[in-house]
Formats: sequence, C-alpha cells, structure tokens
Amino acid sequence: MKVAVNRGRCTGIGICESISPAYFEVGDDGVLILVRETVGDAYRAEVEEAVRSCPAAALTIVDD
Ligand code: SF4
Repeated sequence: MKVAVNRGRCTGIGICESISPAYFEVGDDGVLILVRETVGDAYRAEVEEAVRSCPAAALTIVDD
C-alpha cells in the first residue's frame, strides 16, 4: 500500500508528523514532505493512524 497527500487540503499542522515521522515531515515553509510513499508492514498501523488523525482529511491510503 501507499500513502498519498492531497496538497489542496493539507494545512501543514503536522499531526501526521508527530504520529509517523518516518513518513511525514513538515518543512520550515509549512509544506508537508512525504518522506516515503510505500508503506511496509512494520509501519502500516502507524501510517493508518496518521491518516485517521489528519484534521483536514488530506491523507489517503492507496492499495497497490
Ligand atoms: S496532519 Fe494532515 S493537514 Fe496536518 S500536515 Fe499532516 S497531512 Fe497536512
């Protein structure tokens, strides 16, 4: 599976980063950096929690 960000929705608050810093990082300019896209089994629960916790509903899981 992969994680994707809708940049039109993301407000750069960084809740995703606090839950899963291996995947999400908010830059100094407030723009979210998707550190990686492919989600391995070891990170699945963590990334799913980040997706659920995004207040802007900007994150989605894409099954591949
Ligand atoms: S929690 Fe959602 S709105 Fe906040 S930085 Fe992450 S993707 Fe963007």
